[in-house]
Amino acid sequence: MTDKSATLRPATRLVHGGTMRSQFGETSEALFLTQGFVYETAEAAEARFKGEEPGFIYARFSNPTVRMFEERMALLEGAEDARATASGMAAVTAAMMGQVKAGDHVVAAKALFGSCRYIVEDLLPRFGVESTLVDGDDLDQWRAALRPNTRTLFLESPTNPTLDLVDIAAVAEIAHAGGATLVVDNVFATPLLQSPLALGADCVIYSATKHIDGQGRCLGGVILASRDFIDKHVHNLLRQTGPSMSPFNAWVLLKGLETLPVRVAAQTASAGRIADALAGMPGVTRVLYPGRPDHPHYALAQRQMKGGSTLIAFEVEGGKAGAFRVANALRIIGISNNLGDSKSLVTHPGTTTHQRLSREVREGLGISEGMLRLSVGLEDADDLIDDLRGALDAAARGIPLAKAAE
Ligand SMILES: *Cc1c(COP(=O)(O)O)cnc(C)c1O
Repeated sequence: MTDKSATLRPATRLVHGGTMRSQFGETSEALFLTQGFVYETAEAAEARFKGEEPGFIYARFSNPTVRMFEERMALLEGAEDARATASGMAAVTAAMMGQVKAGDHVVAAKALFGSCRYIVEDLLPRFGVESTLVDGDDLDQWRAALRPNTRTLFLESPTNPTLDLVDIAAVAEIAHAGGATLVVDNVFATPLLQSPLALGADCVIYSATKHIDGQGRCLGGVILASRDFIDKHVHNLLRQTGPSMSPFNAWVLLKGLETLPVRVAAQTASAGRIADALAGMPGVTRVLYPGRPDHPHYALAQRQMKGGSTLIAFEVEGGKAGAFRVANALRIIGISNNLGDSKSLVTHPGTTTHQRLSREVREGLGISEGMLRLSVGLEDADDLIDDLRGALDAAARGIPLAKAAE
């Protein structure tokens, strides 16, 4: 990480940041498909193992292509350091497990990505770490949940799938007052629309599988924090347990980062237009989009985010059957639980990503039977609006349209 890169604007950092050229001077980042490294002498090997000499040792610890991805991400996020992982869930698991031991306590917002909720609600308690779930937008609940043994607070904002917002700066203050840290899952906002570290969070995690790849090709995750946080909580856990990112995936993700600002800007602009169009379509009973003034947390969105997100949640008439009819009648927008992709994708959270939760818990989170989550891609926004209007119309008339032939 050079000082020069740190002073550049985000789009430039995303093209050049972290690049390490080999002796061949390649233009594109090299893909180092190597598990190990050869030392000039036995003394050099000894020095490297002792940490007296910089360099790579073993790809479970680090690899040049993976390190380029980590450095580029750290520059983008304004973090001192970063660690890449095999998936977003490996990043969440390491960031949480790395901070706690039996007898500790964690607090998390209820509205979490399904697997994150499993880590907090099921996995940590099995190892003697108690957890409390709170309504993320109720600061009194966060305050009341803190105990002397609370080590860390965890939240996601905007949340999946209802796009509710949590006040990151306020929760960070509560965490620090109680001697705890705050970890933020920033997947929905992307590093370009929201900067949790600047808002006071101690650690940010991403599923790079989503917008960072953005083209549905590979899994990846990343943990960003101060050097102290990484050294103390994450570094050794990752090295010894091995949820490492493959160099190939790091290379794909490095190339993804180059186009991230262009993609997120285009997808956010389209999402804003589509959210407004949806709000005026017959058969749509509710639109949840942080960039719209009718969003319950619009004021917070204006303060905390630089854009309205690439995702929209909306409710249609007819509950689950109505939502299924609309999803099945879409001809361009695919049915998939991925998000942040260049292809627009719709999912019915109640029967897919959130089906593990009981109906009561889902309803408590605002996930109604008629709710659909739309991830807006890079197609022409007018084609997507036509697709949604056509599907709503077909659903209303009960016409069983087949998906467009591939
Ligand atoms: C997808 C996702 C994850 C998990 O990431 P994987 O790469 O699938 O392991 C975590 N949090 C959020 C908000 C996500 O959307």
